[in-house]
Amino acid sequence: MECLKETADKLQTLKTYFGYDSFRPGQEEIVDQILSGRDVLAVMPTGAGKSLCYQLPALLMPGITVVVSPLISLMMDQVKALNEAGVHAAYINSSLTENQIAKALELAKTGRYRIIYVAPERLETPRFLDFACHAELAMLTVDEAHCISQWGQDFRPSYLRIREFVHRLPRRPVISAFTATATERVREDILASLELENPFTAVTGFDRENLYFEVQRVKDKKGKIQSYLEAHREDSGIIYCATRKGVDELYLYLENAGFSVGRYHAGMSSEARTASQEDFIYDRVKVMLATNAFGMGIDKSNVRFVLHYNMPQSMENYYQEAGRAGRDGGPAECILYYSPQDVVINRFLLDSKERTGEYTQEELRIVCSQDAERLHRMEMYCTTNGCLRHFILRYFGEDAPENCGSCSNCLADFEQMDAGEAAADVIRCVKASGQRFGLNLMVGTLLGADTAKIRNYRLDENPSYGKQSKLGQPLLREVIRALLEQGYLRQTEDRYSLLKLTENSEALLYSEEPFWISYRREEERKPAVRKKSASAAELTEKDRELFEELRKLRAELARKRGVPPYIVASDKTLADLCGKMPHTREELLEVNGMGEKKVQMYGEAFLAKVREAAAEDKV
Ligand code: ADP
Ligand code: MG
Repeated sequence: MECLKETADKLQTLKTYFGYDSFRPGQEEIVDQILSGRDVLAVMPTGAGKSLCYQLPALLMPGITVVVSPLISLMMDQVKALNEAGVHAAYINSSLTENQIAKALELAKTGRYRIIYVAPERLETPRFLDFACHAELAMLTVDEAHCISQWGQDFRPSYLRIREFVHRLPRRPVISAFTATATERVREDILASLELENPFTAVTGFDRENLYFEVQRVKDKKGKIQSYLEAHREDSGIIYCATRKGVDELYLYLENAGFSVGRYHAGMSSEARTASQEDFIYDRVKVMLATNAFGMGIDKSNVRFVLHYNMPQSMENYYQEAGRAGRDGGPAECILYYSPQDVVINRFLLDSKERTGEYTQEELRIVCSQDAERLHRMEMYCTTNGCLRHFILRYFGEDAPENCGSCSNCLADFEQMDAGEAAADVIRCVKASGQRFGLNLMVGTLLGADTAKIRNYRLDENPSYGKQSKLGQPLLREVIRALLEQGYLRQTEDRYSLLKLTENSEALLYSEEPFWISYRREEERKPAVRKKSASAAELTEKDRELFEELRKLRAELARKRGVPPYIVASDKTLADLCGKMPHTREELLEVNGMGEKKVQMYGEAFLAKVREAAAEDKV
C-alpha cells in the first residue's frame, strides 16, 4: 500500500509542480533511489532532465535540499522556474548583498524554502555553515559535478571543499551528484571526493540513434564540403571550424559557390552575431559556419547535418556540437573531416589558451596535461577503425555494443593483413634513430624518401631506411597507428609528438604472432550513402541455414590459421555471402569484406559451401 501511495505522490507532484505526465528515461529510478535514502551519481546528457531528478524528491522529503551549482545564471534560471511552479526556492550567491543573504537565510531557517541553490564558495562561510548546522537538511545535491575533478573540463577547486562542508554537518544528508559528461576517471573523482556511500550510479541516454557518424580523412576539405552541400541543398546544417579565420575563409568560398550560408564567431559584433543566429533559426539561411562559440542555447530542431571542418579539442566538445543535429528525432548526419594538421592547430589553440587565476601551479599542470589527453582521445576517434558510436558511448561511460552497424566504420569494407614485419621494422627504425623523431620522419625513413631533412638527420643511414618502400605510405601509417593504439609505441605529449618505444616494443621484435592491421579497401571512403547490405538479422529461414554453415566453416578456418573468427570474415560478410550467393572468384570479390587477399586465402572454401547450398536448393 505504502508503495502505491508513494507512486501516486510522485506522479501527482510531477504533474502538479512540473506539469509532466510521465518520467523520462532514467528519471524515476533516480528519484526512487533518493527517496529511499541512497546516494546517487547520475550521468545524463544535457537536456535529459537532471534537475527534475533532485527537485522532485526535494519536494517529497521532509527538510531542505541544498543544491550546489557553479554558475549564477544557472541558479537564477532554476529558481525562477521553481518559484513560477509554486515551489519556494532561493539562491545564495555573490549577486546578492550581505543584507539580502542574511535575510534569505533568516527565511530559510523558518522553513520557508524547500530548495536552496548555493555557489560552492558559499558553503564555507560562517553564516551559511551556521544555517546549515541548525536546519534540517534532507539532501545535498551537487549539480555539474564534473567540476569536482581536475580531470574534468571545468575544474572548480572550490568544489573540492564540499566534502569539508558535509563533515561539519551534525547529520549527513543524502548526497546526489549530477553531470552531463563524466569519463571513468572523472566519475571516480566524484565518488571519492564527495565520499558517496554505496551510491546508485546511473549513466543513461547518451546514444542518439537517429544520428549517423562518419569520419573522413581528406585533403581537399573545401571540395568535400561543397559536394556535400550540393547533395543536401534542402537541408539545414551547421559547419564547425576550429578558428575564426577558418570560418571566414570557408564562408567566402561557399558564398561564392552560391550557397545560402551564414557565419558566427566571437570576432563579429554582437549585433551581427544575433542577426546571423536569427537568420539561421528562422531558416533564412540554410547553413551556419561557426566556431565553437555558436550553439549554446540554440534549440533548432531540424538541423539535418553537423559537419566538422576541423577536429575539435575533445570528445566532449565534439559530441555536444554534433548533438545539435537531429533534435527532432529525424535522421541526421555528423561528419568529421579530419586531417593530421587539425592536431597541430588544436595544440596551438590549447597552448595559447588563457587560464584563469583560480588555479595553483600544480593544478595548472594537471589541467594542461588533461587538455592534451583529451585532444589525444579525440585524435583516436578520428583514426580508429572501430565503431564510432561504440567509441563515443564508451568515452562517456555507457556500455555499448562493439558494432552499431550504421556508422561509417561499421559500413566500410575493411581488409585485414598481417603486418608483423612492417611493425618490427618500425620499432627497429625508431630505436636505431634514438627515439628522437616524429611520425612523419619515421614514415619517410622507412619508405626511403630522399628529402633534405632525411639527409640532414642522416636517417638515410638508418638500417631500416627504405625497408618498407613496397608497403606504401597509407598502410605504413596504419601500421604505426595500430602500434600506438596497442601500446607498442607512444607519442610524447609535447608539440613535437616524438615517437618513443614502450616496455612492450622489444617483445614485438621477437614475436611469432601475426600483427593484424585492418585497412580500408578503397582508399577514400564513399560518401555518406548508406549501403544497405544484409545483416544477419534480416536473413530468410533458408539463408539462415547457410549462414550457420558458413559460420562453422569460418570457425574451422580461423582455428586452422590460429586467428580470431572475425579476422577471417565478419558476420556482415557471411550475411552478404548468403544474399549474393557468388559462384565465381569475381563474384566473390563483390561480397562485402572480401578482398583479393581474403579470396586467395579462403575463397575456395567459401565458394564450395555456397555451391553446395545452391545445389541442394535445386534438388
Ligand atoms: P539537464 O540539466 O539534464 O540538462 P534540465 O533539467 O534542464 O536538463 O531539463 C531539460 C528540459 O527537459 C527542461 O525543459 C525540463 O523542463 C524538461 N523535462 C525534464 N523532465 C521532463 C519530463 N519528465 N517530461 C517532459 N519534460 C521534461
Ligand atoms: Mg542541468
